[in-house]
Amino acid sequence: MICPNCQKEIASGAKFCKFCGKEIVSAVDSTNAGSVDLYFQNKQNIEQKSRKKLANSEMLKGLIFIILGIAITGISYAMATDGGTYRIFWGLSIYGGYIFLKSFSYR
Ligand SMILES: [Zn+2]
Repeated sequence: MICPNCQKEIASGAKFCKFCGKEIVSAVDSTNAGSVDLYFQNKQNIEQKSRKKLANSEMLKGLIFIILGIAITGISYAMATDGGTYRIFWGLSIYGGYIFLKSFSYR
């Protein structure tokens, strides 16, 4: 058996390399480590996919807020005779823009 750290021949079944002192991981352990890696890789893939989904839904939500904000601003602007109250709804569009831009960070 070869030490994975210093590549020297060591007694098979040894827990530590007698040359470099490195802990030797048995074949069974390294197989488990491989499946753990695979598990995390799969988890990462799933997370990436759900992040993309989240980004898309957030982007859509942002767009809806922008359109809604502009629409309400337009309506209230048309209805406002004194021209003072319609500005409030820009906040909705700004919030929508914020969500929309933020959704890019999820990608
Ligand atoms: Zn060694």
